[in-house]
Amino acid sequence: MTARPILVVAETRGGKLRQVTFEAIQAAQLAAEPGSPIAAVCLGAAGAKAFADELASCGADTVYVVENSSLGVYQPEAYAASLLEVVKNVAPQAIFMGHTALGRDLAPQLAAKLQAGQISDVTAIERRGNEVVFTRPLYAGKAVEKKAFTDPGGPWIVTVRPNNIAAPEPDLSRQAQIIDVACPAPSLRAVVRKVVAKASGAVDLAEAKIVVSGGRGVRSAEGFRPLEELAAVLGGAVGASRGACDAGYCDYAMQIGQTGKVVTPEIYIACGISGAIQHLAGMSGSRVIIAINKDPEAPIFKVADYGIVGDLFEVLPLLTEEFRRM
Ligand code: FAD
Repeated sequence: MTARPILVVAETRGGKLRQVTFEAIQAAQLAAEPGSPIAAVCLGAAGAKAFADELASCGADTVYVVENSSLGVYQPEAYAASLLEVVKNVAPQAIFMGHTALGRDLAPQLAAKLQAGQISDVTAIERRGNEVVFTRPLYAGKAVEKKAFTDPGGPWIVTVRPNNIAAPEPDLSRQAQIIDVACPAPSLRAVVRKVVAKASGAVDLAEAKIVVSGGRGVRSAEGFRPLEELAAVLGGAVGASRGACDAGYCDYAMQIGQTGKVVTPEIYIACGISGAIQHLAGMSGSRVIIAINKDPEAPIFKVADYGIVGDLFEVLPLLTEEFRRM
């Protein structure tokens, strides 16, 4: 008997597949029984098929495509209805998606409708014989727990934290079978009419490999300029502490921490941020933390791998200049 597939929900933004989709494919491969195919599902009002090649190159064996007029933007009920249709066709062992705003909304809906178990915000996966062990952080990253599903039949629902499981290397010679799934637009009880995106930098904060973050120490909206310059040179994104957001220096969309975004970049550069526990909750999983603070006693230095005691307005232009030369 062939092993049941793992289904990965592809997520797009600005006409592109989000990086976390590829990471979810890799996560699915880590969890898969030997021989289990990986299936991906793309939803959209039109043109969803265009992503099939990219999904195939990163490991999808089959790409299911659902297109109808209700799927142009994320509509919770419409997405859930379409996915349930795909699940009927695929009978997957598990359904994987990113632990993004979309995934956090969609996964529990599916879990409830399918009477399935869910493990969220997974950062690592290990297959031990027949058991698959999922690691997820707890208590704002102070502890981790390891969990496994007790129902071998599934389906299991899993959301994967962005930037933790490396995406597979694309293999452009791979091809996937494309299967259209007919699912007419359902009548919706609540409709998202329009999504108005706030202006943000070119790099998505949640998926950025480098984050340059500012706190109350930047002193003003204008004070973010040197951070933006460094982020532009490094190809990173700009984040902020709640202190900076509360002071009106930047938008709350940039807030990192317990009540903001959780980021796990390769490099996190904290500028003028004291290192309150609520801020650490959003960034302490970063691979390398660099802190710039003029107070040598600032708590951020306790979690930093590299610390620069100094005025951020003097240090940042020097760093930007050096990186620009490299
Ligand atoms: P401050 O604590 O004021 O620190 C500013 C730092 O800048 C100081 O260390 C100072 O030495 C340094 N500095 C000043 N000038 C310079 C300069 N020129 N060069 C270099 N360094 C300089 N906070 C978050 O960030 N994210 C959250 O999600 C969050 N959630 C919260 C939830 C709850 C329920 C509560 C109660 C609080 C939460 N907070 C959160 C707030 C948190 O407790 C802190 O108040 C906040 O993180 C402080 O922001 P800050 O480090 O920018 O400011």
